[in-house]
Amino acid sequence: MLPPASERFTAVESRLREVMEAYNYAEVRTPIAERTELFARSIGETTDIVEKEMYTFDDRDGSSLTLRPEGTASVVRAAVEAGLAQRDQALKLYYLGPMFRRERPQKGRYRQFHQVGAELIGRDDPMADAEMIALLMDCLEAAGAKDVELVLNSLGDRACRPPYRAALADYGRAHQDGLCPNCRLRIDRNPLRLLDCKEEDCRRTMAGAPSISEYLCDECRAHFAEVQRVLAASGVRFTTSARLVRGLDYYVRTAFEVLGGGLGAQNAVGGGGRYDGLVAALGGPPVAGVGFAVGLERVIMAAGETASDHHPEVFVIPLGEGASLAAFELARSLRRTGVRCELEAGGRSIKSAMRRADKLGARYAVILGDEELQAGRATLRDMRRQADHRLALRLGGGGSELAEAIRELGAVGG
Ligand code: AMP
Repeated sequence: MLPPASERFTAVESRLREVMEAYNYAEVRTPIAERTELFARSIGETTDIVEKEMYTFDDRDGSSLTLRPEGTASVVRAAVEAGLAQRDQALKLYYLGPMFRRERPQKGRYRQFHQVGAELIGRDDPMADAEMIALLMDCLEAAGAKDVELVLNSLGDRACRPPYRAALADYGRAHQDGLCPNCRLRIDRNPLRLLDCKEEDCRRTMAGAPSISEYLCDECRAHFAEVQRVLAASGVRFTTSARLVRGLDYYVRTAFEVLGGGLGAQNAVGGGGRYDGLVAALGGPPVAGVGFAVGLERVIMAAGETASDHHPEVFVIPLGEGASLAAFELARSLRRTGVRCELEAGGRSIKSAMRRADKLGARYAVILGDEELQAGRATLRDMRRQADHRLALRLGGGGSELAEAIRELGAVGG
């Protein structure tokens, strides 16, 4: 990733960090590689990620390692290992970094991509789900993502999902002919996935399938209703869809996804859900959890083009041999005071140097010639206003004198 893309990336990252910190989440950094079984156990053996998308390799001692395809499993593992998940207080962590999935690369879908995500561990109340979703929406807004659409569903829990799963598998078996070969394999292994196959035939076939909303138990129904009530009351717009299932097995109850406008086939900018049971499955106490992840590349795409703000404030132009040392010194002292500064390589004409200053979008150019040096002054050109200032330069004072003079002029950053 090269500038200016890399700079936009960093700018969006820092905006997202600010939002996370405003919600009082603290950063966790987990390793890029984990033991393979961590992902197999948490994401689910029959998911696309675990079945065919992980970058897995043997370590020298024969153990199997995998490049992390997502963040939640690692965060939960780390929290359990550090004994944080068993505290009384809820744990609020966010992460940011590269993830790896061996998917077919296309626009918005890469084999190495970046996620920013948050996890709220130790709360099962609907307000926690609402906080997560609000945080996700505020992250997207801070990143400038436009035309986003939030979709919610409840996937039920250990009480009510199994009967639904069975009903869906029955429906799939009865309508096998209308399903793609991949979905036919999924009927017994992971029937929920039949609902989000992109194949036209499968979509048509599954349109008549039973809906999770008819199977939710009273507790799940009440929980979901409360999540919606809180979100609606705080002005978060959403729709519900009984067809929203997510690609990771650990979700229970609330699942959500945000779609971005104008992104084409890969239009999910972020998603998440509740994962009560995951912490216990990874060796921790039986505490609940809810989280989300947003895909940075897609969020940036959804934000559209923005102008790069990578411009030097000051462009220093030495004219003639004698000036180059003074120019070097001046540039260094400006840089040391935090002024973004570019130094023209010597030997060019003033005209071509000014052209370069213009092209770089410099706010000011400082022209240092042998004559100027001898006369004890330099010329500061305001590139925007096309106006020149004469600056006094005490000989022997070095660059810091001039840096100070520029600052005094109120020029830099002005
Ligand atoms: P998931 O963990 O699958 O729910 O993904 C969360 C978010 O990460 C998605 O909504 C996407 O924005 C992003 N994402 C997932 N996979 C990829 C990929 N292969 N390339 C780019 N972004 C991705």
